[in-house]
Amino acid sequence: MEERPVEQCPFCKADLIGEKIPYSLLEHYSPPYFFRLKIGIYDRELDRITHWQCPFCKGTWERN
Ligand SMILES: [Zn+2]
Repeated sequence: MEERPVEQCPFCKADLIGEKIPYSLLEHYSPPYFFRLKIGIYDRELDRITHWQCPFCKGTWERN
């Protein structure tokens, strides 16, 4: 049984870990198999996600 990871918004402390990913979708994901509620902010020039956004308070922080 996989342990539920802990991830909180640095601003509002909301829990950013969602439901466990259903078995039928696992092949599209890498572990830990939980949905993430945070939103990736994609930089076209760098061609990667540079920041995350909290869906609750809309705060953004740098990806590390
Ligand atoms: Zn937040």
